[in-house]
Amino acid sequence: MAVGSAAAGGESRPHIEIRGVYGGNPAGLLEPGSLDNLGLNAVFMNSRRVTTETVAALKQQGAKVFAEYNTMHLASFLEDHPDAAPIGIDGQVSPPPHGWQGICPSHEGYRQNRMDEFRRLLRDYEIDGIWLDYHHSHASWERAEPAMPDTCFCERCVQKFARETKTALPDVSTPELAQLLLGEHWEAWVQWRCDLFTDWVRECRAILDETRPGALLGT
Ligand SMILES: [Zn+2]
Repeated sequence: MAVGSAAAGGESRPHIEIRGVYGGNPAGLLEPGSLDNLGLNAVFMNSRRVTTETVAALKQQGAKVFAEYNTMHLASFLEDHPDAAPIGIDGQVSPPPHGWQGICPSHEGYRQNRMDEFRRLLRDYEIDGIWLDYHHSHASWERAEPAMPDTCFCERCVQKFARETKTALPDVSTPELAQLLLGEHWEAWVQWRCDLFTDWVRECRAILDETRPGALLGT
């Protein structure tokens, strides 16, 4: 994957030009010369694989090292927090499309979990940046026909939407509320959800700037 190149004129955001490999475990790339042989100068690695030794071995080869970081897809969180499962239009837990389990974006404990780990990564390792992976709603989209069920209609999300957008909602069942949100309130609902996901990125940016200034953030 090649990333970057500066746009001509007037572009103030920083850009880098790299030739990198994305994802997983770079165990086969740690020997000196490995990256040169492949013409690579950057590695995006699973954040759970990041260790001081791995980062050092890649940097000794002159590479930039980025962690790819799971924001909305930490399925194991549901084991102890079933209330973080996305709720579908029928008011029931929405099954993970093709096994891709998303998490309710308004669950505060989950968000805290992800932000704490994000901060720890930046604090403990000399990485050049973080790529937010799976920063989207409960969906399986990397295929010819994406499966993107409408979520999340949990009580927490619906109440937060009503409060933050000053939308009066009737006291009706979740399936009826879902119909209203996807009907007459569709525009406000979608915008509110987009804003919520964006707010996660805003918090990541603030943590990054505070913890490892100069590191890059992508998604
Ligand atoms: Zn929710």
